[in-house]
Amino acid sequence: MLRHLIYKIKSTGPITVAEYMKEVLTNPAKGYYMNRDMLGEEGDFITSPEISQMFGELLGIWFISEWIAAGKNAAFQLVELGPGKGTLLGDILRVFSQLGSLLKNCDISLHLVEVSQKLSEIQALTLTEEKVPLERNAESPVYMKGVTKSGIPVSWYRDLQDVPKEYSFYLAHEFFDVLPVHKFQKTPHGWREVLVDIDPQVSDKLRFVLAPCATPAEAFIQNDETRDHVEVCPEAGVVIQELSQRISLTGGAALIADYGHDGTKTDTFRGFCGHRLHDVLTAPGTADLTADVDFSYLRRMSQGKVASLGPIEQQTFLRNMGIDVRLKILLDKTDDPSLRQQLLQGYNMLMNPMKMGERFNFLALVPHQRLHGRNHQTNARQSKPSPSPVAGFGELAWQ
Ligand code: SAH
Repeated sequence: MLRHLIYKIKSTGPITVAEYMKEVLTNPAKGYYMNRDMLGEEGDFITSPEISQMFGELLGIWFISEWIAAGKNAAFQLVELGPGKGTLLGDILRVFSQLGSLLKNCDISLHLVEVSQKLSEIQALTLTEEKVPLERNAESPVYMKGVTKSGIPVSWYRDLQDVPKEYSFYLAHEFFDVLPVHKFQKTPHGWREVLVDIDPQVSDKLRFVLAPCATPAEAFIQNDETRDHVEVCPEAGVVIQELSQRISLTGGAALIADYGHDGTKTDTFRGFCGHRLHDVLTAPGTADLTADVDFSYLRRMSQGKVASLGPIEQQTFLRNMGIDVRLKILLDKTDDPSLRQQLLQGYNMLMNPMKMGERFNFLALVPHQRLHGRNHQTNARQSKPSPSPVAGFGELAWQ
């Protein structure tokens, strides 16, 4: 990867951080995500669904709750962007099976948007318990097709654009943080983009430089920007526009969870290898690269086509979804001390503000009617503002 990048920079000049990130993570031949399993204790980082089954279960409940609230459509697609090992979908599907009587007349299909060959193989094993062959027809946007253990059809795509534009629920957990960001530094001469160049002192080392003049990507910076360093992720904007467009036309909802901020942070670009921070320019292709998600940018990119809820902290979302009750039920079910310990540790990792409870945020996109329909009714009956009608974004109320 380093040789490839050096060759590229030598032939066309310094590259943007976005181009660097894209090459390092998803270059079809040598990209970090393409040919390895980096998730879990043995890997480079661990995610909430890999920590505790409760995470996926509560998200499963969220989708069912939205499906009921929107009128129990006769069919829906569950679309996941960047499904990792498929663990989250596996936990969601278990909830769907447990609530089978509710969903029995609903035609459900799964649609996975994944660029990694290796991870799509693992997802297929998790969900279908068998190896799923690659589709023969190279022209088809579906590159793998299978059926889950419970008989639900599942298709794999490389791009969200290729997923059928049907009534869908969308899920993106730790997906937006791996999309490439452009970085800009404020200078006395105005905004200058940060680029990756070869270190003139050491021929096989990379370094950051500032572009000598304005670059086209500068158009992404807001006119009233007050920070002196900004990261912008245009690809995230494209995905949000696509999701918003789809939800406004066909209904459904999107649930986005990631670590991030609301347009306040500056330099968050970093690498992870073996659960430790890793210099982003060293040994490219061997470590994960990530940048905090700017939720204010995501909301702006929905361009008012849908209503957005959040971002709210993971600890609040999961508590609103009933994680405390779920923990108690699971603890009551087992006497095995190691299982109980595992459940409590998982809960602590997900909820503790010093761990994942505060840094991770949830954002939902729903059709405008989903909020307005209910508000009209409620306002007619009571004068005080009603709690959010969307599960997870308001306190849990027992009825
Ligand atoms: N959601 C999972 C995995 C997060 S890691 C979890 O929470 O455990 C990021 C995932 O996004 C991986 O599956 C990776 O292969 C995938 N990915 C990265 N870039 C992508 C892109 N441009 N399009 C689709 N998937 C991508």
